[in-house]
Amino acid sequence: MRMAMRFGRPVLALAALGLGMGLALPALALAHPGHGVDSGAVGSLSSFTTGLLHPLTGLDHLLALLAVGLWSRQQRQGIVLPPVWLVLMALGASMAPVLPAIPALETSIAATVLLLGVLAAFALRVPAALSVATVGLCGFLHGLAHGQELSGMASGAGFLLASAALMVLGALPGARVRRLAGAAIGAAGVVLLAQMR
Ligand SMILES: [Zn+2]
Repeated sequence: MRMAMRFGRPVLALAALGLGMGLALPALALAHPGHGVDSGAVGSLSSFTTGLLHPLTGLDHLLALLAVGLWSRQQRQGIVLPPVWLVLMALGASMAPVLPAIPALETSIAATVLLLGVLAAFALRVPAALSVATVGLCGFLHGLAHGQELSGMASGAGFLLASAALMVLGALPGARVRRLAGAAIGAAGVVLLAQMR
């Protein structure tokens, strides 16, 4: 709570920036191919490059992955979190074809952006098991969406590589920037959620 108390104007400014960013980029977010509605795009998403580019063109994945990196630095055993995400995301992707379609999966994914952003904004330190469960569940949900859109090992490899890079990028900033960036991502998550209705 002590950390939350230190939140001041910079956080509000960054939250506003995140909101603005989310509002300014609905085209980008909606252009995110392959999730649910336009699954006809699957055939065009089978190469390493498209897998590699996928988290960079989908705002939901981009922000969630950066937030995992941010939050991992705020945990005692945080170094395990990015690998946990990658494993559970791969698991989700490989299980997607055999699982029934999950209703409101896109909404759940937008909710992970909000959740992870808020966790990083408040630099919330939780027991290792809880952080692993949180990151694992979020990664699994993102993986489920990818199982439906990225077919083949090549695109999967590209996707994992880009995801790892984004989480490392998220882990680079200092403590203050981590929390500001978390606030911006949380605010963008609110906008993403609002777009789902
Ligand atoms: Zn995606």
